[in-house]
Amino acid sequence: MKNIVLFGAPGAGKGTHAGLIAEKFDMVHISTGDLLRAEVAAQTPLGRRVDAIMQRGDLVGDDVVVQLVDHAITSSPQGLILDGFPRTVEQAQVLDFLLSHHGRRLDHVISIDMPRAELIRRLRERAAISGRADDNEATFAHRLEEYELKTRPVLDYYRVSGLLISIDGSGEISETSTRICQIVKELV
Ligand code: AMP
Repeated sequence: MKNIVLFGAPGAGKGTHAGLIAEKFDMVHISTGDLLRAEVAAQTPLGRRVDAIMQRGDLVGDDVVVQLVDHAITSSPQGLILDGFPRTVEQAQVLDFLLSHHGRRLDHVISIDMPRAELIRRLRERAAISGRADDNEATFAHRLEEYELKTRPVLDYYRVSGLLISIDGSGEISETSTRICQIVKELV
């Protein structure tokens, strides 16, 4: 039972690839973005708290996402594929704690690397079909800024711990998917 983080900037395709891996390897896909969007759609108190933050492209508070991830881990006995979490070094540290609390550990972090121009091109392409409130021209630059400032340092955290595997995600989605599946296959 492996626990894997799929890492990448907005637009890198984490959600698509994580969904495919979960299906193929019978793992549980935990996407904090999806969990938060479900709260917003259901207009729960938490959803109302984070709606505007997400629309601006800011990160929501660590306390909120940690609570969602803790609940998801607790209710998932299978291997986990995490997408969109951790997004700060603090969240990465909390993830280590949460997993060890459940007698588990993080096995690998697969980072999908992509140049900024390609990320923006893919975000634009997705915006045309996603219907996501934060998929619009006004937030792209800000979401990428948040990534550079708060999320990219997470890569160093995992590089130091020896868990990081980086792949080039700038080719065809199917090529990237095949490469990720190969890596996961060797791990599980
Ligand atoms: P995503 O679907 O992963 O692109 O996430 C969409 C939005 O949800 C982000 O722009 C943030 O506002 C929020 N979000 C998702 N995951 C996290 C996280 N781990 N920490 C903080 N905010 C998050």
